[in-house]
Amino acid sequence: MKIVVLVKEVPDPNALRLDPRTGQLQPGTPTVANEYDLYGMEAAAAIKEERDDVEIVVASLGSGRDPVNRCLAMGADRAVVIDDSTLTGGDTGVTAQVLASYLKQEGFDILLLGQESSDSGTGDIGPRLSALLDVPLVSNLIDLAFDGATLSLKREIEDGHQSLDVTPPAILCALSGLPEPRYPSLKGIMASRKKQTDVQTAADLGIARSELSSRVTWGDLFIEEQEAQGVIVESEDLDDAVDQFVAFLKEKNVL
Ligand SMILES: Cc1cc2nc3c(=O)[nH]c(=O)nc-3n(C[C@H](O)[C@H](O)[C@H](O)COP(=O)(O)OP(=O)(O)OC[C@H]3O[C@@H](n4cnc5c(N)ncnc54)[C@H](O)[C@@H]3O)c2cc1C
Repeated sequence: MKIVVLVKEVPDPNALRLDPRTGQLQPGTPTVANEYDLYGMEAAAAIKEERDDVEIVVASLGSGRDPVNRCLAMGADRAVVIDDSTLTGGDTGVTAQVLASYLKQEGFDILLLGQESSDSGTGDIGPRLSALLDVPLVSNLIDLAFDGATLSLKREIEDGHQSLDVTPPAILCALSGLPEPRYPSLKGIMASRKKQTDVQTAADLGIARSELSSRVTWGDLFIEEQEAQGVIVESEDLDDAVDQFVAFLKEKNVL
């Protein structure tokens, strides 16, 4: 049984440094593995702990190695990094096409990825992969059990939870309701150094860059300005101030 975990390198949300003029990230902003992806990795590691026929492959599209190294230290068996500067600037359509080409070659029984990334946050990649690979997808995953044949899943919905059973192959989009990702142990970190990381390019996957075209362009990033609309009751006389305040609350239908 093969589980592939997708992990994306994102700017560290605790250390964001934006250029106030351009709204772009400043060079040198530290990066980390996307948080939801680590919940997916934890779910994969938990399945592997219960079964001895499981291989976990962690895969990332991008230039960084830290996210896959973290997953190797958490228990993944090997890593694949698709590192190709010609793909820079690709939109979610391009990203999904490249990941789908890789996944067709790799094959999987279970694909775990994050519900959304903490930077672009489109939540687009899972559904696109489901369509491109023709594999069913379960989103908003908060609980998972696997008996070797059937995945018993729980997903978050607007007013509660939904339980469902799925037979692999399946694509699962992880949320933080799943068990907390483990911290890599020293033993795990040492073991990860001996694990294999394959680096591939679009050409290795049989993709010509000319076949991929982005259809989305980013607009400007901006923070919406909000006007504070507080009301200050001003009076030297306390009773009068209370009367004014009560009248205000009545006007707003609070009392
Ligand atoms: C016009 C345009 C130009 C862009 N240029 C760049 C650029 O130059 N550099 C850049 O970094 N980004 C760029 N992006 C953003 C990049 O395309 C997106 O980050 C990527 O398409 C994934 O979208 P998302 O993060 O919203 O995915 P979501 O759908 O929110 O992610 C869901 C999950 O998919 C998986 N996933 C997503 N991306 C990857 C990945 N790369 N590798 C492995 N797993 C992944 C993760 O598990 C993630 O949790 C650009 C986007 C657009 C629209």
